Amino acid sequence: MRTYEQSIAKHQAAKQHLAGGVASSLRASMKPTPLYAKSAKAACITDVDGNTYIDYLLAYGPLILGHAHDGLNESIHQALLNGATYGLQHDGEIKLADLLTEVLPCAEKVSLSGSGTEAVMLALRLSRAYTNKTKVVRFHGHYHGWSDSIFTSFPSSDMSQKASDDRAAAIPPGTFGQSENSLDDIILLPWNDPEALESTLRTRGHEIAAVITEPVMCNSGCIQPKAGYLALMRKLTQELNIVMIMDEVITGFRLSLGGAHGRFDIRPDLVVIGKAMGGGIAISAVAGNAEIMKLVDEGKVSHLGTLNGNCVSTAAAIATISHLAQDNGAAYKHMETLFTELADGIRALLSKHSIPGVVNQIGPVMHMMFIDAIEVNDFETFNKRDAAQYTRFAELMLEEGVLLRPNGLWYISTAHQSAEIEATLRAMDRVFVQLTLQ
Ligand code: PMP
Repeated sequence: MRTYEQSIAKHQAAKQHLAGGVASSLRASMKPTPLYAKSAKAACITDVDGNTYIDYLLAYGPLILGHAHDGLNESIHQALLNGATYGLQHDGEIKLADLLTEVLPCAEKVSLSGSGTEAVMLALRLSRAYTNKTKVVRFHGHYHGWSDSIFTSFPSSDMSQKASDDRAAAIPPGTFGQSENSLDDIILLPWNDPEALESTLRTRGHEIAAVITEPVMCNSGCIQPKAGYLALMRKLTQELNIVMIMDEVITGFRLSLGGAHGRFDIRPDLVVIGKAMGGGIAISAVAGNAEIMKLVDEGKVSHLGTLNGNCVSTAAAIATISHLAQDNGAAYKHMETLFTELADGIRALLSKHSIPGVVNQIGPVMHMMFIDAIEVNDFETFNKRDAAQYTRFAELMLEEGVLLRPNGLWYISTAHQSAEIEATLRAMDRVFVQLTLQ
């Protein structure tokens, strides 16, 4: 039986001076307690109580090369030796921008920021400035960061649910403290619904600056776009002078070197990337059409940030992307093969134990849910999953040495190997016995 005493004690101590006891609200939801890490290497992480876990949380996505990757660490150390950040320009920025335009099919020009949230803010601003329109279409179940103008209530978050319960706004804000009119420019639509998209864009296109979409609904069930849906979005946005923004903060450098837009062969006007791009160091980017990005060149659209393009983050991104680009996509084949094996293994175990569940997997990202359904292809069905059972499951998996995100989204890194996948399936077999006994 594992114990979490040190983590529990540290969380109590942290709460004294650290608001919420964690640095990002979502992390407080981990059961039985937010864990405190001591060290990590490759696919494994060890907590302060000495428990080691196979890690599928992977810091919520960025650790595509796993923990403490030697080559990445070496590049970061080298960068640090010459100074972490200058506020002056340096070669790393040029090299990274060149590299991004080489590997991302839609990238003619890029801007660097520190987080996905900031990059989304820039993409929206560019869209409004470029089209001279203000409304933004976004979709139920997608997440685009926590800035006021885009953060809407997310059913899986208790905090946001509380906020929306108390308000009668048409679009529920994501949190207390968001100004009442911050979402006035948002048009919220169901995703994967071609008719809703087409009728809204055709009737309101004159006031719509941008459509922003996750290319795969990773934040709600890892649901793939219907055949032709993203192509229709591309066609309509082009026709109606609306900027198409693909939010690839999760899928960028994860679904392929060219992200989801490379994998699906769709060319949005702008993509937003983050997470995996830096291998664990804070960096994000907006990349896309030079005509739109020109607004930054001309100084018409402000793009600011003290630590943008700092030496450590650019070195980390160059090293991560270069590693992923080696051997003609071998890293992606490795992750995809292992995750497909894992997803198939989980489906077999669900069936063996007669537990109703669905596993949605595409390449190195996967969502597992307990639900009485054959498949989960829309947000409405996704919302019928048994989230409480999943939380219980994640807690039992922790006992077995497997670290999972409490909401069902799994990531894999290039450092994971078959042995870890097999150990995970053996652990799950035992956990499913306990789940069915309850
Ligand atoms: N967009 C998407 C699709 C995301 O999943 C996230 C974070 N999970 C963000 C934007 C925000 O990124 P960050 O947390 O780096 O601000």
